[in-house]
Parts: sequence; C-alpha cells; structure tokens
Amino acid sequence: MAKTKKAKPAKQKKAHVKNSAGRTVAARVGTPDPTNPKRVAAILAKLDKAYPNAICELKHENPFQLVISTILSAQCTDVRVNQVTAQLYKKYPDAKAFAHANPAELQQEIRPTGFFRNKTKSVMGASKVIVENFGGEVPRTMEEMLSLPGVARKTANVVLGTAYGIPSGVVVDTHVLRLTRRLELTEHTEPKKVEQDLMKILPQDKWIQFSHQLIWHGRRVCVARNPRCIDCNLEPLCHSKDKTI
Ligand code: SF4
Repeated sequence: MAKTKKAKPAKQKKAHVKNSAGRTVAARVGTPDPTNPKRVAAILAKLDKAYPNAICELKHENPFQLVISTILSAQCTDVRVNQVTAQLYKKYPDAKAFAHANPAELQQEIRPTGFFRNKTKSVMGASKVIVENFGGEVPRTMEEMLSLPGVARKTANVVLGTAYGIPSGVVVDTHVLRLTRRLELTEHTEPKKVEQDLMKILPQDKWIQFSHQLIWHGRRVCVARNPRCIDCNLEPLCHSKDKTI
C-alpha cells in the first residue's frame, strides 16, 4: 500500500509591527495577538488605575536591607520576612555586621523564613562580597549584582528597580509568572524566558512599576485559587481559563 504523506501544519503568517516599546516584532496575522500593542497598553492603563501607588512590600531603609529582605523572601511571605527583619536589622545594621555574624545564631534568627541554612549562606556570602568588593555599598549594575552569592536576576531586578530606580529587567516572581500567563502575555513557564518576553512587549519605563502592580493584583484579586474576577478591572481583557465569571 502506498504511503500517504502526513500534511504539515499550516505555517502561521507573520507580519512585522512596532510594539508599545517601539521595537519591531513579529505579529500573527488573521488571529488577534494577545501581546499586540493596543492590548498591552490597555492592560497597563488598567493596572495604573487600580494600583497607582503599588510599591515593594518588603520593608527596608536602604538598598542593602532590600538585598537581605529579598534573599529571605524566597518561598516566604513578605509579611513573615518583615516580622523577622524588624529585629534583625537592629542587631545587624550593615553589611559588615552580617558578614561577621555567627552563622548558628543567624540561622536561628531567620529560621521562620524557611530554608534558613541556605539563606544564612547567601546572606553572609552576599554581605562579604558587598564589603570586600564594593566598599559596603550595594552595586548598581546587573553584572555586579549577579556576582553576589545567592543573588539571581529576580533579586537583582528587585534591588536595582526598587532601591535605585534602574529598570534592569522585569521582576518575575510567582505572581508575575501566574498572571502574565493568565493574561496571555507569555506562553513560557521559565522565569528567564517570561522576563525576556515581557521586556520585548513592555515599554522600559514600565518595567519596574508593572511588576509591583502585578504582584499587588496577584495578592489582592487574581489569587492562585479562585481568582476574584468579579472585582477585577482587567476582566474585559482577560480570557483565562481560570476565570471565575
Ligand atoms: S479576570 Fe480573573 S483571572 Fe483574569 S486577571 Fe482578573 S482576576 Fe485574574
């Protein structure tokens, strides 16, 4: 019997358009692209309306404290971290103090934030590098931030964006990950790829605020289970299968 050739799936036609960040990107033709500039701009406008004053909820008085709080916030709530750091920053006022901490004592002090052994290594390691390589000051570039033990892109983006106002990238935490997929702004699940997608479709001057707003929305309305879609001003723009209305 003659073999029948399998039909190749039709290639989606693409055109090149300018997105809201002014970059030329490939866009699908014939089907509405959820990352088209108009829709992205509409989402940003609604986030601005709902959360005009969204800020980082980790309490800190300087960039160094934000480095430590962000390290401690991995797999932990900001509320819990703030409870722990209220005492911690009284005992350890700067990078030098953390660099010379007694590891066993520090482990017990940060224990409520979870993963306390690894976090102790990161906190003390980052503090040592800040003291030895950067004169006790938190550096201002992504490359230098990534030289700190326990600091990856997410922490670096939080610190550079919130403490210094430098839009080095887009913070992709658990809320940003969940919500950008619900809003069809990315199809990826890996934070690095999600961040790359967001950096392509968002104007750079929105990178910092967008993450704060999405994190607020993820905590207050678009929660993981049973999102409160009835209270969501993004609802007309959202086609997520997780919608509850
Ligand atoms: S409509 Fe529902 S699922 Fe969509 S963004 Fe709003 S809360 Fe989240």
